[in-house]
Order: sequence, then C-alpha cells, then structure tokens
Amino acid sequence: MIRYAIHREMLRAAIKEKDKLWFRKATELTKQIASSRKPNFKPIWNQIKAVYAGLQSEKCCYCEKKLEHPIDQDVEHFRPKSAVRPWSVSRALSKQGVRIPRSRNHLSEPGYTKLAYVPFNLAIACKTCNSSFKRNYFPIEGERDSVGTSLKRMKAERPYLIYPIGVIDSNPEDLITFRGLSPLPGYSTKGHKRRRALVTIALLGLDDAIKRRDLFKERARCLRLLFLELEARAGATRDTVRVKHQEMIDNLTDAGTPHTNCLRSFKRLYELNRQEAREFAEECAKLLGEKRRQN
Ligand SMILES: [Zn+2]
Repeated sequence: MIRYAIHREMLRAAIKEKDKLWFRKATELTKQIASSRKPNFKPIWNQIKAVYAGLQSEKCCYCEKKLEHPIDQDVEHFRPKSAVRPWSVSRALSKQGVRIPRSRNHLSEPGYTKLAYVPFNLAIACKTCNSSFKRNYFPIEGERDSVGTSLKRMKAERPYLIYPIGVIDSNPEDLITFRGLSPLPGYSTKGHKRRRALVTIALLGLDDAIKRRDLFKERARCLRLLFLELEARAGATRDTVRVKHQEMIDNLTDAGTPHTNCLRSFKRLYELNRQEAREFAEECAKLLGEKRRQN
C-alpha cells in the first residue's frame, strides 16, 4: 500500500468536474437514508469511479495491483456502508497485542450509512481485495462510532485498517514495508501503528503466498525487472548508460507503477545489503520459473 495524497478541495473539484450535481445528489441520498429504516443505497459512487482510478494510477488501493479491466474494479467503502461483520483475531495476532472490543451480539454492528457518499471514505479496489478479503470488515481498537460524520473525530475509533487516499490517515509506507515479496510492519513501527500494519496485512491477505499466488507472482515480475535495472546501473561504465538505467529505476519505483511499496523497499535493501537483495531476486526468478543462470 502507498498513499495517494490529494487535498480535500482538489478531490471535490475533480468530482464536480466529472458530475457537477454529484454532491447535491449525495446530500439528498444521505438524507433519505437517515430517515429510512432499511436504507436502499443508490450507487452514484460509480459515476465518480474514474476520479479515484485516475488518482490511484489505476491501481488497487490495497494490493497495488494494476486494474486492467473495469470489471476488475470496485468502488470500495473504507468504513462499510452496510452491517459491519465481526472479524476474528487469530492467535498469532492476539499474541502481538491485537484486541477487538466484542459487539454485544457478537454478530454484526450497524454500518456507517452516513458515510456512504463521503469522498474520503471511498477508493478503488480490485475484486479480490474488495470481495474476498475486505468485505464488510472494519475492525477497530476503540469504540465504534457508526453514526459519526466527522472523519477527524472518528480517529477515536482507532481503526486497524489504513486509508490511503488524501492525508487524513497515516502514510501506509510509514507503517508497512516489504522484505522481498512479503509485507510486514515497518522496522521502527510500534504500538497501535504496528498493530494496524499487522491487521491490514492479515485481513487483506497481503502476505498470503498461497491464496494470493497471482499477486506474489506479479510482485516477483516487477521486482526482477527492478533488480536487473539496479544491477545494470551498478555495472554501467558510461554515464549515458547509467542515466538510462536510473530512469528505468525511477519509473519502476514511481507511485504510478504497480507494487511501489514492495519495489521501493527492495531498492533500499539493494543499497544496504546487496547480497540479501540478490538472494531475493533469485527466489523471484524461481517463482517465475526462469532458468537459473549457468556460472
Ligand atoms: Zn487488490
């Protein structure tokens, strides 16, 4: 995950440019929902899907996979608009201090209906992240405020998941880093921030090399490309060649390229411990079925 920084007014302007009546419709629908016992959500968020797709460079807000086809993209409600499902904490996470206050009925809790049309509660996610992993989960460490409308005040909920749009939440790259193809909490991340990283990774299966084999393969392909460019830059004897490889490295670690957090972490590792980086690159080659180089 990475942050897609945008100021509130810029996001509003981009939405208005797409549909100048969108906010009026959103206000009307929010009022209707507040007065109805069984809310019926009209999916006008689909009308502004392109705003988020552009902002996120057509990448999933959680796994950073490139969203190739419109059918593979969902508008994601970070705080679920419908009933919030209880999420069970694994024993491993419990040992790391992750605690979730139990809802009274242990089943589900009311959804955040008032946030259904709030721009800073939306993002674009891939079908796998949205439908198979995130679903209607929204585990929190504090007390749930499903009637709140001020996202600033709702920080008191102490959400475990990280919201990557704008600057209202922590920068995901400050909380989550990568070791090779696997995400983990940043090395100096402590306390609630560390627990947020752990839950975000676990809930979205970002470190599950079996269930998310395709994602791991995609990361491996990108990491191999970056590795080859880093090696070529290191071995370049002419400035023009070095500059060419540096440009490729900059492109591969740019926010607009898939798996930025993974690749930036790998680039840092390559600069600190080249031998370990080479071992990871070799593992990627194996995962991708490349033939080992004969020495
Ligand atoms: Zn995804």
